Amino acid sequence: MTASPLIGVLALQGDVKEHELALAAVGARTTRVRTEADLAAIDGLVIPGGESTTMSNLAIRLDLIDPLRAASKAGLPMYGSCAGMIMLAARITDARPDQQTIGGLDVTVRRNAFGRQVDSFEIDLDIPAVGSEPFRAVFIRAPLVESVGSAVEVLSILDHGSAADTIVAVRQGVRLATSFHPELTGDTRIHELFVQIVRQH
Ligand code: GLN
Repeated sequence: MTASPLIGVLALQGDVKEHELALAAVGARTTRVRTEADLAAIDGLVIPGGESTTMSNLAIRLDLIDPLRAASKAGLPMYGSCAGMIMLAARITDARPDQQTIGGLDVTVRRNAFGRQVDSFEIDLDIPAVGSEPFRAVFIRAPLVESVGSAVEVLSILDHGSAADTIVAVRQGVRLATSFHPELTGDTRIHELFVQIVRQH
């Protein structure tokens, strides 16, 4: 693996540019992924935030959903933020029955989980895997992880004062997902972790 891996950003919909900037800031090269052929060249894939129903529909229409699943099965490292997390989830709740995902991450994710009053918010999170400094996290109509399989490592829990804590960042081998949008805040530690995963792969 070269020191500067080539990371694809799934460019069907969502905040593609912001991820490209964050990846460039941590020394990766980037390219946009829209076709099966684009997938062949990359060392890792980022699935941006946006709207997972739209992203899923576009991936189906462009014949990309099966190639994405095959790439995941073949072990291509993938990182999903927000809608991207939904795309990586093996199971989703509160979605239309025809919404499809790439899967690969053994979690159940609830869409739009924070309800209308707290549609969007920012909060400091503890994410020990990226260091002891708190991580300022932006949540926008965010999903949360309701349950995880035994192979999934919980990287961060949001303590929002209710009985059940909320899992907002997970890793399973070469797969990483966050409910929030690190690409929007200038803190590049999550992207750095992903690029490290890609380099070590
Ligand atoms: N609510 C969106 C969805 O279900 C995700 C929001 C986001 O990516 N900011 O896809």
